[in-house]
Amino acid sequence: EYIIRPHLNYKYIAENAVKINENMKQRNASGADAMVVKELYHKLAVMTTELNALRGRRNELTKSTKLAKSKEDKAALIEEAKALKATIQEREIALASVDNQLLSEAIQIPNDTSKESPIGPEDCARVAKIVGTPIDPDNHPFPIADHLTLAKKHDMVDLETAALVSGASFYYLKNYGALLEVALVQYAMHKAVEHGFSPVITPDIVRTSFAYSCGFQPRNNEMSQIYDVTTPTMDADSPALCLAGTAEIPLAGMFAKKILNEQELPKQMVGFGHAFRAEAGARGADTKGLYRVHQFSKVELFAVSRPDQSEMIMEKLLKLQEDIFTELGLCFRVLDMPSEELGGSANRKFDMEAWMPGRRAWGEISSTSNCTDYQARRLSIRYRPREPTAPLEFCHTLNGTAIAVPRVLIAIIENFQDKDGRIEIPSALRKWLPGTPTHI
Ligand code: AMP
Repeated sequence: EYIIRPHLNYKYIAENAVKINENMKQRNASGADAMVVKELYHKLAVMTTELNALRGRRNELTKSTKLAKSKEDKAALIEEAKALKATIQEREIALASVDNQLLSEAIQIPNDTSKESPIGPEDCARVAKIVGTPIDPDNHPFPIADHLTLAKKHDMVDLETAALVSGASFYYLKNYGALLEVALVQYAMHKAVEHGFSPVITPDIVRTSFAYSCGFQPRNNEMSQIYDVTTPTMDADSPALCLAGTAEIPLAGMFAKKILNEQELPKQMVGFGHAFRAEAGARGADTKGLYRVHQFSKVELFAVSRPDQSEMIMEKLLKLQEDIFTELGLCFRVLDMPSEELGGSANRKFDMEAWMPGRRAWGEISSTSNCTDYQARRLSIRYRPREPTAPLEFCHTLNGTAIAVPRVLIAIIENFQDKDGRIEIPSALRKWLPGTPTHI
C-alpha cells in the first residue's frame, strides 16, 4: 500500500513531445525520450481499443450461450469463449507490459521549465538581488580568518573525533557551536510559525520510493547523494529505505494520496529534520570544515497550493527567507537559477548565497523551488475544487530552505569576527541563547 502509482500526463507529453525533448536538452537531462512516450501512448490506445472490443465480444458470447437453441450451438459458443478468454489474458499481459514501459520512460521526464528561467548551465544564473555589502578580505582593517580557524579557537567544532567516530565530513558541534544550532532552529521555526506555517518534526528515514516521487531519480546523480538503510528484519519484499536527503521528502509525503478541499489551500508547513548527503565525488576546499558535510540540521519550508497560487507562494517563501537572512545581518544574493540547475522537479528555482569572506566566495545557503504538479502527480496530491461538479485537480508543491545550519554558521562566524577573533552574535539570535550573550 506504500507504492503510489504516479498520475503522469501522457497525453500532454505525447502532444508536446518535440517541446519536451527540447526542454530536456536545455536542462541537460538525459535518459528519456518524449517521442518514445508518444509512440507507446498511441500503441497503448490501440491495444486498449482492441482489448475492449474483445471484451465486448466475450460479453456477447456469454449472452448468446445462454440463449443458444441447440446443444451443438452452445458447445461451439463455449469453445469460442474459451479461446477468446485466452486471447484476452494474453492481450492484458501485453497491455500491462506496454503500460509499464510507458511509465518507466515518462517518469524520467523532468518538469517543464518556467518561461522566466534563464537557459543554460550554472554560470547563466541571473542575479536578482544583492542585500548588504560583501566584506573585501583584501581591503579590511584586520586579516579575515576562515570559519574553521575561528570555530576551533572557540572550541565550537570537533572534526577529528567525528572523523574517528563517524568518518570524514562529519562533525561535532560543541559549546557555542551546539547552542547556535539550537538558536538558529528555534529562531527560524518561530519566524515561520509567525508567518502562518505549521511546525513539524519530520522522520529522517523515508521509503526510497518517496525520494523518487519527489524527483530524486536513480539515473540522475541526485540518487548518488542518498544513503540506503537496511535493517536485519528486511527481506526481499520489504520496501527500500533511505536517509532523507532533505525534509522536503517527508513533508511532501505527508500529503501523499490525499484529496484536500480547495478551502484548505494553501497548506504551509515548516519542518525540522536532518539532511543526509553522501556527497559522492565531493573533494577540494568545500569539504574542509562545515561547508560540505554528510549530515546537517535544516529547517525547511514546504507548501501545497492550487496551481494558480504557486507563483505567489514562491514570492512569499522568498520574502520570508530574505527576512531571515537580513535579520541575521548576512550579506547575500538571490539567484534565478538556470535550466541545467533545476533537477527533475523544479519548474523554477531561486538560490540564495551568502558572502563568506573567509572562503572568499559566495556560498549557497538556501534553495527554493516551485515544483508545480511534478511531485503532486507522482505522490497523488489532489484537491477538490469548490465548484461541486468540477473534477479533482492536482496541487502544486513548493519547498525552500529556511536555515541549513552549517552554512549559516559559516556565514555568521566569518562575517561577524572582530580583530581579536571574537564573534558577534546576531541580535535576532541572542534571546535563544542562555544569558543573551552579545559575543562569543
Ligand atoms: P538542496 O536541498 O541541495 O538545495 O540543499 C538545501 C541547502 O542545504 C543548500 O542551499 C545548502 O545551504 C545546504 N546544503 C546542501 N548540501 C549541503 C552539504 N553537503 N553540507 C552542508 N550544507 C549543505
